[in-house]
Amino acid sequence: MQISINEIELYMNCPRAYKFWYCDVMEEKKKSLSVCKANAIRKAVQQIHGGILANVKAEDIEMFCEHIWQEEITNADQEELDTIVIQEKPATSKKEATPPVTKGQRALVNLKIWAVHYAEMEKEAQVIYSDVPFEDTIGDTTFTGTISQIRKSPQEGWQVIVFNTSSQIPGFAYLKRNFSISLYAHALWQGLLEVNEEKISIGEIPAVYLYYFPNLELYKRGNGKSQKGELKGDPWIPVHRSRAELLQFEYEILYVASGIQLGFYPMNVTRLGGCELCGFTHGCHAMTTDYIPKNDLELVESK
Ligand code: SF4
Repeated sequence: MQISINEIELYMNCPRAYKFWYCDVMEEKKKSLSVCKANAIRKAVQQIHGGILANVKAEDIEMFCEHIWQEEITNADQEELDTIVIQEKPATSKKEATPPVTKGQRALVNLKIWAVHYAEMEKEAQVIYSDVPFEDTIGDTTFTGTISQIRKSPQEGWQVIVFNTSSQIPGFAYLKRNFSISLYAHALWQGLLEVNEEKISIGEIPAVYLYYFPNLELYKRGNGKSQKGELKGDPWIPVHRSRAELLQFEYEILYVASGIQLGFYPMNVTRLGGCELCGFTHGCHAMTTDYIPKNDLELVESK
């Protein structure tokens, strides 16, 4: 049996959503803003490490971001993009009026900030592979997927970098048990990477980091802990996996695979934001979203 990491992630978010997408082939509603953000920054980062954005000025990176953003939102959920997150402000005797800001506009501004700061901080990084497909056989199941970035550092050796653009920083317990992160680490240790149509083995457990892009934004005003203009935080969040953890993970992921194999598809919403972030709410009778504040729901989508 072969299962992709996208299947695993969807199944883990809600098995019923997996059934809708992979068994019933139900149309998903329009692409969400979180998916647009994740795709757009991935494309910008690829260019920063060797494409047209190598050695260019911030204005050029911003222009490129504008371009990829327009492409990315072609099939996006327009209602979500147009949702106002900052209300307009009327003119006062000292200040001119300011127009309202929508979710889409704010996402584009953030995308530019992330790309420009990433280019400043990471341009010299030794990126060995970007968006590299892998396959990893555990038991009788082969898991497949794509790793955003693999680097080599003189101090640590192999590093896997997992990009994250969610509006809330993921908690420690979530990161510690996240299946995608574990599978990426496991794939470098036991699996095969597909590079230039060849399958290669690394055979080492890498260091793994979540690269949290919103930490590249700057504080707009000072507070007790930070000065105006400082980065919101360190984008590098270590999420390493030990050998013992990866061996335990083999059992865990095979449980998930057997659930898929047996057609076990309960409504079991585990993702923060639940049904509100699901692309199949239009076909599912399990809508339980009334109490969820919409502005808190721009969480990462990994599909
Ligand atoms: S709407 Fe909720 S219960 Fe239904 S498939 Fe989506 S996440 Fe699952």
